[in-house]
Amino acid sequence: MELLIMGTAAAEGWPAVWCRCDHCQEARRRGGKDIRTRAGAVVDGVLKIDFGPDTYMQALQQGVDLSRLEHLIVTHTHQDHFAPDDLALRGAVYAHGLAHDLTVWGGDRALAMARRVLAEGRTTGVNLRRVRPFEPFAAGEFRVTPLLADHNPLETCYIYLIEREGRRLLWGHDTDLFPEETWAYLGAQPPLHAVVLDATNGPLTFRGGHMGIGELVDVRRRMLAEGMATAETRFVATHFSHNGGLLHADLEARLGPEGFLVAYDGMRLCI
Ligand SMILES: [Zn+2]
Ligand SMILES: [Zn+2]
Ligand SMILES: [Zn+2]
Repeated sequence: MELLIMGTAAAEGWPAVWCRCDHCQEARRRGGKDIRTRAGAVVDGVLKIDFGPDTYMQALQQGVDLSRLEHLIVTHTHQDHFAPDDLALRGAVYAHGLAHDLTVWGGDRALAMARRVLAEGRTTGVNLRRVRPFEPFAAGEFRVTPLLADHNPLETCYIYLIEREGRRLLWGHDTDLFPEETWAYLGAQPPLHAVVLDATNGPLTFRGGHMGIGELVDVRRRMLAEGMATAETRFVATHFSHNGGLLHADLEARLGPEGFLVAYDGMRLCI
């Protein structure tokens, strides 16, 4: 599988939309990997993970043809992960020559938001499918399993196990430390080839539905100890907040020795 991580910031972006803190100003000065947009990814050019407010611009800049998307899986409906308005632009007048439908997979709240947008736009060719925790489904060539996250008590939030041709990716944010049911599910499966984790809080001990460097180190250690990962497994940290204050080079210095790659917008991984 080819994973393209399109956005690597927390909800506010980094530099944040309205922020003038030192960390945002420094990111503006440095540019490059320190410019982080809202979270999202695409696997093999056809399976999109989340659809945040920066998706269209990310696609232009990173060479992603959104018309090729066949499936969209939604983790949860925080505005940085699901901004469904552009789904309406698959409708007549706006989009020509689409070769296939798009199927959107998610929880009740995501599907309700998508349904409203599609109804207002009278848009056809988008199928909505509800997911349930720990019930795998086939999305084209992919086998996708929604696992429970610990993130927003107002909705069921998911992380996803994504498999294709024996390769296994865990898309693991937004979440605090995994619920035990999720650990148990992963523990009963073969080892993962890549794990993408929530590093929102960086060096802070604050949690609030996310993790930071300390938790990531613990999660990796547990996965290795319990056979969910091997020495070959790649661990990737993403979803960074300016409040953590560590710029890309600082994050690499802290996370590299702990066995993590630090994601940046446009990062491609062959899994
Ligand atoms: Zn988020
Ligand atoms: Zn800031
Ligand atoms: Zn969130």
